Amino acid sequence: MPKAKKVSENRVAFYCQGCKGSHQIDPGRWEFNGDFERPTISPSILVNSMHYPEGGKWPTDSEHARMMAGERIEGVPSICHSFVRDGRIEYLNDCTHELRGQTVDLQEFKE
Ligand SMILES: [Zn+2]
Repeated sequence: MPKAKKVSENRVAFYCQGCKGSHQIDPGRWEFNGDFERPTISPSILVNSMHYPEGGKWPTDSEHARMMAGERIEGVPSICHSFVRDGRIEYLNDCTHELRGQTVDLQEFKE
């Protein structure tokens, strides 16, 4: 069951359950063991991004309705910091999502 996937020449992607989306690394910049079933990637992966206040990458219907009514909705910064080791993902304590501080099995990578 593949847990990582080569999506282009210099991109390897895996699914992050904390962010509910994929993260991609450049195997030229990170050390990747080449094992898509039990990936190990080092050093750690730090993703800084923004999300909508209700938690999504895209606005919810209610947020969209408020924006369409002229309200300014500020993005909330999110941090995801993890180690991928032997098919598992270890989330560090500076993550802003609910899996902070936990280690979980990577899920199968699907498109
Ligand atoms: Zn993440």
